[in-house]
Amino acid sequence: MEDYLKAVYRLREQGGSITTQRIAEELGVTGPSVTNMIKRLDELHLLEHTRYQGVVLTTAGEKIALEVIRHHRLLELYLAETLGYSWDEVHEEAERLEHHLSDEMEARIEATLGFPTHDPHGDPIPSAEGIVQPLAGATLDQLPIGAPARIERAVDRDPDRLRYLGELGLYPGAIVTLLELMPFEGPLRIQVGDKEHIIGRSLASAIYASVD
Ligand SMILES: [Zn+2]
Repeated sequence: MEDYLKAVYRLREQGGSITTQRIAEELGVTGPSVTNMIKRLDELHLLEHTRYQGVVLTTAGEKIALEVIRHHRLLELYLAETLGYSWDEVHEEAERLEHHLSDEMEARIEATLGFPTHDPHGDPIPSAEGIVQPLAGATLDQLPIGAPARIERAVDRDPDRLRYLGELGLYPGAIVTLLELMPFEGPLRIQVGDKEHIIGRSLASAIYASVD
C-alpha cells in the first residue's frame, strides 16, 4: 500500500493526470492489480479516484506517502554519503529498506547527514513535519542557449542511464550550458565544466536545471 501511495506522489511530481496505466508502469505491475489496490485505498480514504481528475491523494494518503518518500530519500543519501554507493545504486537498496526504518534510526540518519534537504538525485527530502522544498528548474532542452545553468535534479531511475549521465558530469549542483539545439527534435550540444558533449532529447528531458 505504501508503494502505491508513494507512486502516486512521484507521478504527481512529474505532472499530468494520474491514470491507473501510469501507476502500473511506475510500479511494474498489471492494470487489474492497480485497479484492485486503488479501490481498496479509496475505501480506506487514502486516495480518491475520479474519472476526470484521475487518482488524487487525500491528506491522510499524502501523509503516508511523504513518510515513505522521506525514508527513501534519506536512505539514498546515507548510502551515497556514508557507505560510498554511487547514485545509480542507491535507489534499489533504499527501496528494500524504506519500509523497515524506525523513527529512531530515521532521526539519527538525518542528524548524521546534517539535516539534508535533497537526495543524491536532487529530489527534495520531506521534513519530519512533511514540508517539501518546491521543485525547480526546466529540462535541458528548454534552457536558454548560452546561459550557464545549475543542475537541480535527475528524474531518471534507470541505473545504466544514470551512470552515463554521471560520466558526463551531469550531477545536481554541476553547471551546464546549452550550446546548440539541433532542429527537428535533434540532439543537444552542451558544455559541462570545460567539456562539450552531444546528448539526445530523451536524456536531456531527464535533467532539470535552472539559470540563476
Ligand atoms: Zn533519489
